[in-house]
Amino acid sequence: MIHTNYHSHLIYCNHAIGHAEDYIEVALKHNFTELGISDHAPLLPCFMSSSEFERFGRNYNTMTLDTALTKYLPEVEAAKKKYAGKIKILSAFEIEYFSTSDFFARYLRKRVDYLNLGIHMFEYKDQIYNSYFQVDYETIYFYMKAAIDGMRTGLFNTLVHPDLFMYAYKDVHMERTFDEHCAYVSRKIIETAIECDVYLELNANGINNSRFSLEWLYPCREFWEIAKEYPELKIIIGADAHDPKSLVCDYIRQAEEFAKELGLKIQETMEVKH
Ligand SMILES: [Zn+2]
Ligand SMILES: [Zn+2]
Repeated sequence: MIHTNYHSHLIYCNHAIGHAEDYIEVALKHNFTELGISDHAPLLPCFMSSSEFERFGRNYNTMTLDTALTKYLPEVEAAKKKYAGKIKILSAFEIEYFSTSDFFARYLRKRVDYLNLGIHMFEYKDQIYNSYFQVDYETIYFYMKAAIDGMRTGLFNTLVHPDLFMYAYKDVHMERTFDEHCAYVSRKIIETAIECDVYLELNANGINNSRFSLEWLYPCREFWEIAKEYPELKIIIGADAHDPKSLVCDYIRQAEEFAKELGLKIQETMEVKH
């Protein structure tokens, strides 16, 4: 099993459990060398309409800015000091990309060791779409646009779960298939990651999120088969842990096996480049 993780969530995002120290204790017990704590960043009302903000933003699955500054960041900084010399702790946020959010990503970047880019929602025709349930052969290009525009800001070290668009993708026949649109989008995301020197993450939590399906919704085999054609692509495995126990679990082992089976080269340690 790998001994690093750069994608971990704390209690502050309202849909995870555990404090920084709970994660660090698990990491130490399993001889981790590095742990990145990367909870969901706040969303600001200026990113979307007020009704969308009520639906997507307000205390739904992110912390408030006040919580980020007065609770989350001080907790991670204190843990860094307390465990110095035992394990390398990195502070981070997982952030969405919107056309109006660059200033905020820059503001947060100055306060942490790195940023993860996670496209759980995206802009399309002046509305916010949900990456889990509203991706089809048309909207997929706007998921792609958010991912690409985000990577091109130079603010993000990793695009996490790049293949999340396959969670409930619907083709032109309203069926779940990996069609030519998916293949095009996959290639564009992979090529942009290489061009911008951004890591792509093979997300172990996707296997957990697929547990009621016949096949993995994500990680998506076809996406990673395309990724395999690009040996220069940098790939890490992320726990996307929403519970300290998920730092070491069967889903990580399955992700590692999947990578091995496909012949994907996994970077165990992530360098901070941006
Ligand atoms: Zn989450
Ligand atoms: Zn996450």
